[in-house]
Order: sequence, then structure tokens, then C-alpha cells
Amino acid sequence: MATPIGSSADAIGRLKELDREARRFEHIGALLGWDRETGMPPRAIEERAHQEALISALHHEKITAPQVGELLEHATAEEGTLDAAFLTVKRREYEKNTRVPTEFVKEMTELTSRAQAVWATARAENDFPAFEPFLDRIVEMNRRLSDYLGFQDHPYDALLDQYEPYATTAEIDRAFCDLEAGLVPLVAAIAEVRPPDDSFLRHRYPADGQERFSRELMVALGYDLERGRLDRSAHPFTTTLGAQDVRITTRYQEDFLQGSLFGTIHETGHALYELGMPAELQGTLLAEGTSLGVHESQSRLWENMIGRSRPFWIHWLPRLQAIFPTQLEGVSVDQFYRAVNRVAPSHIRVEADEVTYSLHVILRFRLEVALISGDLSVKDVPEAWRATSRALLGIAPESDSTGVLQDVHWSFGGFGYFPTYALGNLYAAQLLDVIQRDIPDLWDRVEEGDTSQVLAWLRSHVHAAGSTRRARELMKDVTGRPLGAESFLSYLTSKYGEIYRL
Ligand code: ZN
Repeated sequence: MATPIGSSADAIGRLKELDREARRFEHIGALLGWDRETGMPPRAIEERAHQEALISALHHEKITAPQVGELLEHATAEEGTLDAAFLTVKRREYEKNTRVPTEFVKEMTELTSRAQAVWATARAENDFPAFEPFLDRIVEMNRRLSDYLGFQDHPYDALLDQYEPYATTAEIDRAFCDLEAGLVPLVAAIAEVRPPDDSFLRHRYPADGQERFSRELMVALGYDLERGRLDRSAHPFTTTLGAQDVRITTRYQEDFLQGSLFGTIHETGHALYELGMPAELQGTLLAEGTSLGVHESQSRLWENMIGRSRPFWIHWLPRLQAIFPTQLEGVSVDQFYRAVNRVAPSHIRVEADEVTYSLHVILRFRLEVALISGDLSVKDVPEAWRATSRALLGIAPESDSTGVLQDVHWSFGGFGYFPTYALGNLYAAQLLDVIQRDIPDLWDRVEEGDTSQVLAWLRSHVHAAGSTRRARELMKDVTGRPLGAESFLSYLTSKYGEIYRL
């Protein structure tokens, strides 16, 4: 016999206990994943896959248990309270995870784990036809997923909602059209000017020195090594293992200094958000970024707007030169600043500069929407990719390896993910506008190596809310305007207009 639920307060109390347990499973899973990427011996992979699948099944069971559904029916809270926010997010989690049949989840997991292996080989061998039948099924399954999850206007809305809750295809399309209209002529104007010399970034920079600098930098930005650590992995990431344990990884390319410098700042930005969750939210599902777009706004604000600014390097270049005296001998702040902000249209998204990056995202967004709505068939994707790339970036990849096959996302089924990368840029620029207004001596401080006021500002305006507020509403309240491309475009125009003397 089931225990009687009792009052609404009892129901909320019990839901919170169950939620805490669910978070612990999540964090244990994250620890297994972190270890897989940083230190696990290669032959442990098979066992690890079973361990991770088990933990993830236990987590899924916890959040979809019938008891959670019953408790949610009995729990109510006064609007505007923390409990009300908790119930909203908890209910969303429960519904999203129970609407999709277990059989479907299993089928998708099996398909995408095979698809990822096929994709890796197809990319290495420039063989789109090998990946095509898998992509075909992945698109078809994403359409079904969208039906299970439910949507109002466009089937892509449901997919987007997994990563950017409550966002719609229509509003993102509007912002991206404005973004495109501003970026394309800016890129064309920059292409007319001789690019700054960045050859000194490609000297040999031993990994140990890069690591020493990364560590110094992240601590100076406010990262607490008592609550996290820095390790090496093939692809940089941030992972949360608990309220007091948010770890980041980076990679060191000895022939390209930029990678670790800005990769570390980027991940530090993500980590500062996770570490900034207020005590009353810690250990609950509210202690998470409110959307991937807002998460990305934190990493990009630190990486590009602060980290790629001239004042930042007035402080940090001498320190970097102390570690790499011969490689950076005679390099001035101005040369360094211009080199790390060099703009050039290229094929690979993850290597793109700050100006062209969003165009790569718009391309993927358009193709995804067309695939999901049925306007584009999978066999035509490589050609559509080239045509869209030509229209947006002015160049088209010669091979599918550097075109349609370059990203891992489609092979794991992640339709709806890409737009959040560009949303991060838009939100970051809107935030920067307000930060500059609220901290009048911002850049003088940055020049002295002091970014503590920026962090304090983000803590109180963004981090403190956790996911108690919807991304769109939070950003509108904090920045005073709805999501749009205006701030980002004027930031880019003024910064690159100066660098390239446009
Ligand atoms: Zn990121």
C-alpha cells in the first residue's frame, strides 16, 4: 500500500528529497564521464559504457517514478515563491521524460551509438553516403520525438525546447535574419583589408607553460580550485559533479597558443556560472543554468568580450611573455590584440573567429529546420550545405568532411542544439551593454587585471536566479530588451571597425 501523501507541504518536501537523490545520480554519472575523458585507461571503455548506462537508467527511473507524478498532483505553491519555481521545473522534467516511450529512448540510444561510430569513419573518409541512411533515420526519429514532446507552431520548437526551454523557431529565425543581415556585409568589408599578422601564435609553446598560464588566469577570473580542478582532454568541457565540484578541461596545442588561452577562459565562464548558484538552490534541479543559450552567454562574455579585449591583454601579455619570453619577444599589446581577433571565413565552426562564428550556426539552424519540416531531404543535404555556406560565408567546402560531416551533433541525435551557440553571443552582448553602464570604470579595472566586479555583477544578476526564471524573461529583465541581434552587431562593428580601420 502506498504511503498517504498528506498535505501539499509534505508533497513538496518529499519531492525535494527525491530530487536530491536524482541530482546525486546525475553527478555520479558526470564523474564517470569526466574520468572517461581525462584519465580512464583505454581498455576500460566497455565496462565504463555499462556503468554509465546503469547510472543513467537509475537516474531516469528516479525522475519518472509514478510517485513523482502523484506528488506533483498534490503539490501546490504560492506564485513567485521558490517552491513554485521548483514545482514548475520539476513538473517540466517529469512530463518531458514520461511523454517519450521507453522503447523509443532505447531505439534512439542504439541508433545514435552506432551512428556516432559510422559518422567518425565517414568523416575520416569523406564518405557522406555511408552516413546518409543513419542521418535519415535520425531525422525521422527526431520528427517522432517532436510529436511525443508536443509543440504548438513548428515541430522544431519541441526539439529546440530541450536545450533552450520555451524558445520558438520563429523568434530565433527573426533574430538570426537580423544577425545575418549585419554580419554578411561586415565579413565582406573585413575581407577587403589585409589581415593582422598572427604568425607568432604558431611558434612552439610547450604545454606545461600553457597549463601554468591557464591555471593562473582561471584563478584570477574567480575560479576556486578548492571547488574544482583543471585537467586535459581531447575536447574541452565543463562538468558539474556537485555544488562544490565543478571541473573544467582544456587542451594544449603546442603549435597554436590561442586554443588553450581562450578555451580555458571559455570553460571558466561556464564553470563560474555553475559555481555561482546560490546556497538555497544547491543540490536541487534549480541549481542549473536556465538554458544552454544563457550558459553560452557566460562563456562567451568571458572568452571574447573580456578575454579578447585590449585592456585584458595590457595586464596579461607581460605575464604570458614571462612564461614564453622567446616566442613572444618584441610582441606589443596591439599586435597581440589584433592577432587574437583575426577574422577569416573558414569551413570549420569550432575554429571560427568571433565575427564569422554565428554564420556557421545560422547555416546549421536553417538546414535543421528544413530537414525537420520535410522541406529538405537528407540526400540533398551536402549540396544545401555548400549553397548555404556560399550565401553566408562566401565560401563552400570542397569535401563533406569539412562540410556536412564536420560536427558530431547530428550523429548523437542532437537536433535543436546548435542555435544555442549563437544565442550565447546575442545574450552576452546584451549583458555587456548593461555591465558597461553599471560599472563605469570597467575597462580601467580590466586593464589592472581586476575582473571581480564583472563576476559580482553576473553573480547577482544572472547566476543567483539559477533556473528559477525562464531564459527569455530573465534576460529581458536584466538587459532591458528582448532577444535581438542589435547589441551584438554594434559590439562587433565598433570593435572590428577599429581593428580593421573600416
Ligand atoms: Zn560553451
